Amino acid sequence: MDVRTVRKDFPILNQRVNGEPLVYFDNAATSQTPLSVLDAVRSYYLTENANVHRGVHTLAERATEHYERVRQKVARFINAETAEDIIFTRSTTESLNVIARGFGDQVVKAGDEIVITAMEHHSNLVPWQELAMRTGAKLKFIELDTEQKLSLASAAEQITPRTKIVAVTAASNVLGTVTPINKLAKLAHQVQAFVVVDAAQLVGHQPVDVQKWDADFMAFSGHKMLAPTGIGVLYGRNDVLQMMRPVQFGGEMIEDVTRTKTTFKCAPLDFEAGTPNISGVVGLGAAIDYLNQIGFAVIEQREQKLVNYLLPRLREVTGVTLYGPQYEHTGVFSFNLSGLHPHDVATGLDMEGVAVRAGHHCAQPLMQTLGVNATVRASVAFYNTIDECQRFLDALVAVREFFQ
Ligand code: PLP
Repeated sequence: MDVRTVRKDFPILNQRVNGEPLVYFDNAATSQTPLSVLDAVRSYYLTENANVHRGVHTLAERATEHYERVRQKVARFINAETAEDIIFTRSTTESLNVIARGFGDQVVKAGDEIVITAMEHHSNLVPWQELAMRTGAKLKFIELDTEQKLSLASAAEQITPRTKIVAVTAASNVLGTVTPINKLAKLAHQVQAFVVVDAAQLVGHQPVDVQKWDADFMAFSGHKMLAPTGIGVLYGRNDVLQMMRPVQFGGEMIEDVTRTKTTFKCAPLDFEAGTPNISGVVGLGAAIDYLNQIGFAVIEQREQKLVNYLLPRLREVTGVTLYGPQYEHTGVFSFNLSGLHPHDVATGLDMEGVAVRAGHHCAQPLMQTLGVNATVRASVAFYNTIDECQRFLDALVAVREFFQ
């Protein structure tokens, strides 16, 4: 992969911020969108725009055909058995809420256990907390080990015959830790619990295979994998989708309505009430094409090269405390600079043209475990360069010296 050629697909990267060349290291919050995705959305509005599933005219048929084609593409992308296992949502957050409400309420009873991990994003925590409160179930946490990886010993302790749902992130949005989903799925399925995977931070960086994972449900967002905002995916295996009840009702999801009773369409359409984000789906399809065209072997290799460069050097910057594992690290780096508030560090970096995120990263319980209120987070993608890594490291030293 020639990174200079690839970067031409992302014109947003080629600009100055505060007089400095932009270094976009906030990819874990949202990724940038290549021209082919923008072109696909534009072309959709120029030639196909119509509502899906309802019309019989040509544009409506084109839009429907395109929408359903992307559903099949998503199924292949994550190796779902069929396209009927793919539900389009707004985001990871919406997908997880739908699972907790529509499925959780069906299977979780008072006295049952819901098991999550100590490193969950609030999107994979609060819906389960709410489910536990609604049902009288207990919410339990798999702890991290001393390496800040998920402790399998803790998983084996927390997952018990009372466990009904095990909901875990595939990769931490704070620590750069990857979760051994297979091993957790095995523990969960031994006690007939269902496995929900929050793959927001993994999709777009590594190939995902829901069948290999043996996941019952999986959620991800388009905007973290080159697609537009406002489009997400809920994967559910057909048999578990049959157990899930719709949580939104109205147009598009019904089979037949009378004044007193309504019957619903079959999955996945019964979970897509109202006019969906059709252009977002089109953009998602184009993003998958783009990722496939580069190929995950190349994407992983590129990102690993950036990680191998950054990990030892960031750790060596005077005053830096780096969180997360020593190895097997994704391109997400959380750290603090001694004596400085993370927001001051992020503002200082922005003055140097470097975009990072500072805060609790929607993972306040994890911050409590780490014993901090907030961190700075730098996160890379395959379109970043070694030169940008070095500029980020130099900017960090400049920020430290400025505040000294
Ligand atoms: N889960 C993880 C691990 C995330 O990193 C994020 C976003 O940062 C989310 C869930 C929520 O994604 P969204 O805001 O797109 O719903």
